[in-house]
Amino acid sequence: MSSFNVAKFGGTSVANFEAMSRCAAIIEQNPNTKLIVSSACSGVTNLLVELANGVQDSAQRAEILTKLAAIHQAVLDKLEVADETAAEIVKILDTVTNLAEAASIQASTKLTDHLVACGELMSTHLLTQLMKERGLNAVRFDIRDVLKTDDNFGKAEPQLETIRQLAEQKLVPLCQNHVVVTQGFIGSDPEGNTTTLGRGGSDYSAALIAEAVQASGLEIWTDVPGIYTTDPRIAAKASPIPEISFSEASEMANFGAKILHPSTLIPALRHDIPVFVGSSKEPEKGGTWIRHQVESSPLFRALALRCNQTMVTLRSANMFHAYGFLAKVFEILAKHKVSVDLITTSEISVSLTLDQTDTSGGAPELPQAAKEELEQLCTVDVEQNLCLVALIGNNMSESKGYAKQVFSTLEDFNLRMICYGASPHNLCFLLHESVSRQAIQKLHTELFES
Ligand code: ADP
Ligand code: ASP
Ligand code: MG
Repeated sequence: MSSFNVAKFGGTSVANFEAMSRCAAIIEQNPNTKLIVSSACSGVTNLLVELANGVQDSAQRAEILTKLAAIHQAVLDKLEVADETAAEIVKILDTVTNLAEAASIQASTKLTDHLVACGELMSTHLLTQLMKERGLNAVRFDIRDVLKTDDNFGKAEPQLETIRQLAEQKLVPLCQNHVVVTQGFIGSDPEGNTTTLGRGGSDYSAALIAEAVQASGLEIWTDVPGIYTTDPRIAAKASPIPEISFSEASEMANFGAKILHPSTLIPALRHDIPVFVGSSKEPEKGGTWIRHQVESSPLFRALALRCNQTMVTLRSANMFHAYGFLAKVFEILAKHKVSVDLITTSEISVSLTLDQTDTSGGAPELPQAAKEELEQLCTVDVEQNLCLVALIGNNMSESKGYAKQVFSTLEDFNLRMICYGASPHNLCFLLHESVSRQAIQKLHTELFES
């Protein structure tokens, strides 16, 4: 294991000159911090995604491009020596303009990835120059030379062994004498085309890089001082968790807690790299340590919310005491590449939710062809506008006496589906989206505030 520390800064942490300066101050505090993984400046990826979705009106397109230029120009204006960096930003903005105008942008996931990657390519130019001006021996590195993926544009899969070898050849030597600043979220396929790891993927990039260089620690700097008992934007009394296990934090990320990309902890867990989550705005407030061994494992740890759920209910009287029905259902789903997330079954029906397989953020769709084929077998109902509320904790399947408290708190809510038992770490409810935040607030008050 190297003594390198990898630090990742999210969009709000690199939103402007002042925010980037706070990042530099954090980096200066720890001489072992050798690798910096940066997101795009706050708001930039959203603007790029808007362009990638195809903006037909040229005035509207120009307005977005002006906004993008202004965000980066505001940082350039505060740098002492901005000419070279400004020239790089202009080049990238030209690429953005050309791609946004390309007739095929909407239809091409390859061009889309090239376009949305431009945010990180720009922010890292600015952050590197700012760090140099503070006296740090910073160097910008294009992570596409190391972070190799497949060509599943929009949600590319990293190729771990190649990444490890390239990191050893190219990144580790550079870290000996420099603080290396590189991009989160992006990579490249075997042909060198730019790919992305999915929205929020910079956390995952940082963890992959930490694994590849065998880092001693991974810091995720964001806009909140650690992982809270629930999203503090939903429950004002949510409180920070000083220490949490990998499995609890992974459950939280999987069940939608935006604080970490769901895949982030997999590389860290594989190499047992401790992860710290803190606020770049208020580093003095401390944060959360995610570790293998933790001192306490409370029954209730946190609540997470994941919206845009699609529930499919399949009903057939033929299912009654018959065998093979579920096998047929899953064969059809597999054939149409539909991935299932949660499932509950009864004698004559089965309800399941669909996995989010793309990065649009919208509710997943059951493909029409899959629906038609399922309809040969049973009735098919598809429901959307649902959210999943997950209560995350420890030893839930071995503990007694808490179900009454949980269910009486939710007695006024229409629970569309309940999942429990497969994991000792969670109890999940599917509810209509209009009441899901309220359900979290009530559960938080009842289970976490007394
Ligand atoms: P970054 O741009 O730094 O990656 P994100 O916006 O992706 O930041 O993630 C941070 C946000 O995650 C917080 O502002 C908060 O609203 C949200 N969040 C969701 N669940 C939690 C939680 N359990 N604890 C803390 N923050 C959470
Ligand atoms: N900039 C990318 C996004 O907004 C990746 C990230 O910030 O994690 O999704
Ligand atoms: Mg994020």
